[in-house]
Amino acid sequence: STRSVRRSPALRTALSAIPPYAPGRRASSDLTAALASNESHFAPLPSVQQVVQNAARTVNRYPDMTSTRLREEIGAFLQTDPGHIAVSPGSVGALQQLVTSFCDEGDEVVFAWRSFEAYPILVRLAGARPVPVPLTADEEHDLDAMAAAITDRTRMVLLCVPNNPTGVGMTQADLVAFLDRVPPTVLVVVDEAYAEYVDSPGHAAALSLLDERSNVCVLRTFSKAYGLAGLRVGYAVGPAHVADGLRRAALPFGVSAPAQEAAIASLAAAGELHTRVTALVRERRRVVDAVRDQGWSVPDSQANFFWLRANGRPLSRLLTAFDDAQILVRPFADEGIRITLADRATNDRVLRVLSDVRRGAA
Ligand code: PMP
Repeated sequence: STRSVRRSPALRTALSAIPPYAPGRRASSDLTAALASNESHFAPLPSVQQVVQNAARTVNRYPDMTSTRLREEIGAFLQTDPGHIAVSPGSVGALQQLVTSFCDEGDEVVFAWRSFEAYPILVRLAGARPVPVPLTADEEHDLDAMAAAITDRTRMVLLCVPNNPTGVGMTQADLVAFLDRVPPTVLVVVDEAYAEYVDSPGHAAALSLLDERSNVCVLRTFSKAYGLAGLRVGYAVGPAHVADGLRRAALPFGVSAPAQEAAIASLAAAGELHTRVTALVRERRRVVDAVRDQGWSVPDSQANFFWLRANGRPLSRLLTAFDDAQILVRPFADEGIRITLADRATNDRVLRVLSDVRRGAA
């Protein structure tokens, strides 16, 4: 066997099947517009920066492992019992805790594809089997096909609402009809990383369903609308036993004190942050309209980015034009390009690149 000749520790074979997470490139200069990772374009609020500085004075101590004060503040914000909330290092941390809490080797996790790249990675890491279900031609979750993909081995369904990288949302009616078809033993995780940017009437609001459903869990994050991507803090809201399972599967002390304090301060500044979100949603309308007027194909977005469909055309010329303009965007194979929305001036730079390529000037 290879064991006898091996001279170094062997990685689990499951790891070799895992595609590496490919983060958006980082900006190399102030001139570069970083529109590849759906971060907030705005610096943290001064009040938030101040509490992070204050919290830095005590980082010789471990943080509160159960994030008690932050859970109380989130509970007050959502009008939810803090016992139903688990705080995590980013919402991706909660997702990993969920998968490791609910999935054994060989169990199946159903999710839409294309969607957030971390899903197949986290599922495989846990030794479980990813079951990707293609989006419809309109980039909607194919909820009929997803319901049909559920088997005796399915432990979890992930819904990304609005979906990354396409920005497409889901109606509450469709969500409820789907939940009615899912066996009560299957946990449905609704990843709402971009919930704050939703403005479509009748859009899914999974939190409103938690009281009546014991197999639904919602993920939220401070990384996007709250502008704290670099601090790594998110949370899950769900039935008490799910939140309890999450806390037990968490790395000890996974959320730092500066992160907890910044999240609390951000909830206190919800009004100021809401102003930023409103401005971004207004820009989304303007930019998507302008991009369509140029002749590009873009689905309606409910998030802080939009999806430029490739529609079978190669993306190389567009990507070169964005590179030349020092704008970092996120291409997905030959399917399309995801572009994060920013302030008006930066969005105008994006529109100029797109119109130049359209007119054959770039
Ligand atoms: N869910 C979705 C749909 C995302 O797009 C992202 C970030 N790209 C995350 C979760 C993870 O964000 P975080 O871990 O920073 O909360």
